Amino acid sequence: MDEPTLRAEIVRLNKIIQALMNRAERSMSIGTSDFSRFQTAIMLDEQVRRRTEELETALRTNEKILRALRESEAKFHGLVDQSLVGIAIILDGKFSHANPKLASIFGYSVDELLQLGPLDVVVEHERSLVTEHILKGIAGETKDHPAVYLGLRKDGTCVHVEIASSPMSIAGKPALIAVLTDISERVQAETNVRMLNSRLHEMAIHDALTGLFNRRYLDETFERELIRAARQHCPISVVMGDLDHFKTVNDTYGHQAGDEVLREFGRLMKQHARGSDIYCRYGGEEFLLILPDMPEETACERAEQLRAALAATPIMFGTTAIRVTASFGVAGFPLHGKTADELITAADDALYAAKRSGRNQVKCGVGTT
Ligand code: GH3
Ligand code: MG
Ligand code: MG
Repeated sequence: MDEPTLRAEIVRLNKIIQALMNRAERSMSIGTSDFSRFQTAIMLDEQVRRRTEELETALRTNEKILRALRESEAKFHGLVDQSLVGIAIILDGKFSHANPKLASIFGYSVDELLQLGPLDVVVEHERSLVTEHILKGIAGETKDHPAVYLGLRKDGTCVHVEIASSPMSIAGKPALIAVLTDISERVQAETNVRMLNSRLHEMAIHDALTGLFNRRYLDETFERELIRAARQHCPISVVMGDLDHFKTVNDTYGHQAGDEVLREFGRLMKQHARGSDIYCRYGGEEFLLILPDMPEETACERAEQLRAALAATPIMFGTTAIRVTASFGVAGFPLHGKTADELITAADDALYAAKRSGRNQVKCGVGTT
C-alpha cells in the first residue's frame, strides 16, 4: 500500500469512528443503559486501537520499502555514473538518460547529451544503419549482437564505438538501454596489425635490393598462371636475363656500384613491364620475367627492347657512368615446356646459348615437345 492510500484509509477510518461515536451519543440520549454505553465505548476504543496499530505497521513497512528503494536507486545511479562504459536509455528517439562516461565518449556534458538523440552522435552515412539498429533493438532482435559504428563527437572528430542494447519499457513506452564502448584504440591497434602484416607480406615477397618480386613470389604465382593459361588456352612466356661480366663490374667499381647496377636494371625491368607481368630477381644478377598472355615471339621483342635500353643507358654511380649489358633467354608455353620447371630450364638454356654466342643478345628456347 503506498503512502497516499494509507493516509486516505486513516481519513476513512476516522470518519467511520466519528459516525459510530455519533451513533453512540444518539443511543445514549434515547435512554440506553450505562452498562451498554460503557460496553459500546470499550468496543469502539478497542477497534480504533487495533486499526491504528495495523495502519502504523503498514506505514512502517511502507517506509522501509521506500528507504530500500531509494538506497537501491542510489546504488544503481552510483554504479551507472562510475561505469567505465557509456550507458544510455533511448526513449522516443532521444537520450532520456546518459552517464558521464557516455558524455565523455562524445565530448559533451551529460546535460547537453540529454538534449540530443543517438542520430546526433553518429556520422551521417551510418545514421540509417543506427535507426535500423534501434528499431531492431526495441523489438529485442539485437540482443547478444553488438554492433560497431563510427560515432561523431561534439568537436567533429570520429570515434569508433561498439554498442550492445536490450529493450525495456518506461511508463509503458518501448525504450532501449544501450551500452557503448569506445573501441578507437582497439580499431587503431587492429589497423596497425593489418598494416604490419601487409608490410611483412610485402617484404616476404620482394627483393630488398631491387624492390622486384623474389623467388618465393615466383614459386607462388607461376604455377597458378600456368594453370590459368592451360585452362584458357592462352600463351605465357618466360624471359630470363643475366648481366654480362657482372663480376668485372664489382671488381672494377666495387660491390656498392654493382648493387646500384642491379637496382637500375630492376627499375628498367619495371619500366618495361605491363601490369600483369611478374618481374623478379631470380638470383644474384639473374632476373626473370613472366609474361602472361604473351606468345614467345612477342616476348623476344620485349626482351630485345629491354636489352637495347640497358645497353644504351649508362648507370651513374656518383660521377662514374657504368655501362653494362645483359643476355636474355626466352621460352614460351606450351611450345618450350608445360611446367614451371621445364619453362625456366628452357629459358636458362636459351640464356646460356646467348652467352655462348657472345652476350648482349636475346635467344629463344628450343622446344621440349
Ligand atoms: P657472365 O657474363 O657469364 O654472366 O659473367 P658474370 O661475371 O656476370 O657471372 P658470374 O656468375 O661469374 O658472376 C656473378 C657475380 O654477381 C658474382 C657475384 O659476386 C655478383 N653478385 C651476386 N649478387 C650480388 C649482389 O647482390 N650485389 C653485387 N654487387 N654483386 C652480386
Ligand atoms: Mg652474369
Ligand atoms: Mg649469373
